[in-house]
Amino acid sequence: MSRNWNALLSRRSPNLHGWVKMDVNQIFETPGVIYFGDGAPAREQWPVERLRQAHADAWEEAYDILSYGESLGHEPLRMTIAERMAARGSVVDPKLILVTNGSQQGLDLISRALFDPGDVVVVEGPTYFGALQAFDAYEVSYRVAPMDEHGMIPESLEPLLFDDPRPKAIYTVPTFQNPTGVTLPAERRTRILDMARSANVAIIEDDPYGEIYFTPEPVPPLRALDPEVIYLGTFSKTLAPALRMGWMAVPPELFQLVAHSKEAIDIMSDRFVQRAVVSASADGWLDAQLEGARSFYRQQRDFLLNALHREMPEGVTWTVPDGGFFNWVTLPETATAEDLLPVALRHKVGFLPGSCFYPEPEPQRSFRLSYPTMAKETIDEGSSRLGSAIRELLG
Ligand code: PMP
Repeated sequence: MSRNWNALLSRRSPNLHGWVKMDVNQIFETPGVIYFGDGAPAREQWPVERLRQAHADAWEEAYDILSYGESLGHEPLRMTIAERMAARGSVVDPKLILVTNGSQQGLDLISRALFDPGDVVVVEGPTYFGALQAFDAYEVSYRVAPMDEHGMIPESLEPLLFDDPRPKAIYTVPTFQNPTGVTLPAERRTRILDMARSANVAIIEDDPYGEIYFTPEPVPPLRALDPEVIYLGTFSKTLAPALRMGWMAVPPELFQLVAHSKEAIDIMSDRFVQRAVVSASADGWLDAQLEGARSFYRQQRDFLLNALHREMPEGVTWTVPDGGFFNWVTLPETATAEDLLPVALRHKVGFLPGSCFYPEPEPQRSFRLSYPTMAKETIDEGSSRLGSAIRELLG
């Protein structure tokens, strides 16, 4: 006789869902589809040789590092991270930096420290689905902050912060947002930080794309303006996702809590990879690599924007990202991205519809396109198919 597992499951188990709540399998099951959904760096930017050498160097120290240790992170890596953050205007004591297995782990660690079942989290509408996946495990509820082409709108956010019950936190990707590509301007940043402080609401700033900027200068993170911001960073977009190397910078009051949680979950991050990341980024190498990456991704963005200009029917609008990997396309008033998707798949083109990026997956007029990994010809062909699908849908 087998066990009755249902009787053993936790109360929160129904909240442990996949990367998106929508069923998007139809996209991946469609043969020959051009998929505009990839959120990973382009192959052309993978620093394979540099990482191979950096790993070989780390293995030279194997007798020092094959055991347990450094649960807060390898000190030189924490210093490297602090230097990189300082270069973008955010001064952090390396002692307040905790190395994580990607920023995804940071989302879990901060949830463990802050959220009880029923607590309210304010998220951007739309927001990154992986954050919803992490927060949902802690049985939170959501208030969705409306956005325009400049990110969260302070006037609409304010009542959400002061309503009862008070939210615990705002989760935001203020710079080159996933999924919209938009960036919160300086004036909104200070207003939102002030509001959140006076409402006693934490700010969780997720910043994986901040170093992939197309503007002459980088955008300083929210953390640069307020050291109480809980900041999540990662090497997934600047080196490679499979390294699983990220970090969080947390206020001193929270540091022990998140450090203990990290220890409880996985004791420590991979000590070889941590050393490899230090030596791969040393001597200005990562900065030089990122200069190339920025112009590469800017060109990719331009390929997509030019194709959209050429192929989109009237009434369709899209964002113009100043960095990062994504742009957000909005259909004319009568149409939804969820209705478009099956039509698009018949035209052999796929994307993630807007509903994937909200806590409640209701139909949306918008969808996400990513541009980093596709050849220009594929972007052109995919956009042309998308244009045909939209024209068919709109009749
Ligand atoms: N946050 C955002 C906004 C992201 O786009 C991603 C990657 N898709 C992550 C977190 C997770 O990144 P990591 O690989 O560092 O866990």
